[in-house]
Amino acid sequence: MTEQSGVAVLGATGSIGSSALDVLRLHRDRYKVVGLTGWKRMAALKPLMREFVPAQIAAEPESVSVIDTNFLEGCEGGCYLGGEEGLVAVATHPDVDTVIAGVSGAAGLQSTLAAVEAGKRVLIANKEPLVMCGQLVRNAASVSGACLMPIDSEHNAIFQCLPLNLQQDVTSGRGIGSRSAGAGVSRITLTASGGPFLRTSAAAISDATPAQALAHPTWNMGPKISVDSATLMNKGLELIEACSLFGLDESQIDIIIHPQSVLHSMVGFNDGSLIGQMGNPDMRIPISYGLSYPERTTSGIERLNLAEIGVLEFEQPDLERFPSLVLAREAAKTGRSVPIALNAANEIAVEAFLDRRISFCEIPQVVDWILQKHEPSEVSDLEHVVDTDLEVRAMASEMIQRGLSS
Ligand code: NAD
Ligand code: MG
Repeated sequence: MTEQSGVAVLGATGSIGSSALDVLRLHRDRYKVVGLTGWKRMAALKPLMREFVPAQIAAEPESVSVIDTNFLEGCEGGCYLGGEEGLVAVATHPDVDTVIAGVSGAAGLQSTLAAVEAGKRVLIANKEPLVMCGQLVRNAASVSGACLMPIDSEHNAIFQCLPLNLQQDVTSGRGIGSRSAGAGVSRITLTASGGPFLRTSAAAISDATPAQALAHPTWNMGPKISVDSATLMNKGLELIEACSLFGLDESQIDIIIHPQSVLHSMVGFNDGSLIGQMGNPDMRIPISYGLSYPERTTSGIERLNLAEIGVLEFEQPDLERFPSLVLAREAAKTGRSVPIALNAANEIAVEAFLDRRISFCEIPQVVDWILQKHEPSEVSDLEHVVDTDLEVRAMASEMIQRGLSS
């Protein structure tokens, strides 16, 4: 029997977490789940602890304190850790070889960075840390020898289409920027499903309810990314994620709407070739690829049936109905601390929309207002990133409380 590799799943109770655990269940001989983290949903974490018996779990301290005293029984010989320190401890446990970063939003920043600093293989679904400070993540990988593996489906598709030497530049944190021209890579194209409002009029979009925004036509995801997919901010964040991860300029990255969501992104080469990766829209494919790279193993997902799909459509995004794309491209262009501000304002606005404190069309308005107020600064270290994030969150929350028109 081959030696089992230790895995920590951060955000195990979420959509990425459960897809990851599905793949790990298929390959119990290869992987041992050493750490799991959830947050508030103890009812979802408890059966996972019983099933996988991890050495460590982390969750929100307040949620743990209110549950029955038998809670830790499922974690035989294991240890519970609370808060941010808990997430970092699970991500850096010595028996962990691979970390699946599946926390939602900026809450995953410190644990993702800690996993990279500890030299782990880090499967990054949690795009927000890359949006906020991708350069710091890449620098940390260059120092520690960590392996960065994008599993956001578009970035994983790009990775799969790159020649081996450029794949190594991505995993090592060097980025492909300096060597892309030599390898003939001229541009990359990110595909976007267009979300639930692709064919909805501007007037109807402005009054969209949370239930409508959460009803994604092709992907089944957590609430925050589902709303981001409806505003197309998800694609904007992914544009910045691609610049950060691959070390490319925003002008080298195109975005195209592809409603069937089966072509997950493409690399354009200077001889006119366009190489893309296709598959059913299911995160178990990129997760399985990231776990087994450079080998490939089964993911539990059927190969795509193209005859059944019949037609693949492509069109330009409508920047008037989806202004978040324009805001994100501006943030990518200006760089420095602006992506941190964009991300923080967006997280606060999405939360307010889901709580019905603002309307759907006010989400980009909050982000726009913040970008107009924000003074860009150099992103020097983690402390600066965290301070900027907190400062912008406070400004955005205050603005929402005051009312957008005042
Ligand atoms: P989700 O809401 O389903 O799950 C989020 C997980 O993070 C849960 O386990 C939750 O307990 C945990 N969490 C939430 N707040 C936390 C906090 N403050 N501290 C610690 N843990 C916390 O989200 P998801 O859809 O699985 O997305 C996770 C990440 O992966 C996001 O960054 C998203 O953009 C990215 N992503 C998701 C998908 C997808 O298909 N779901 C695809 C690509 C990328
Ligand atoms: Mg994606």
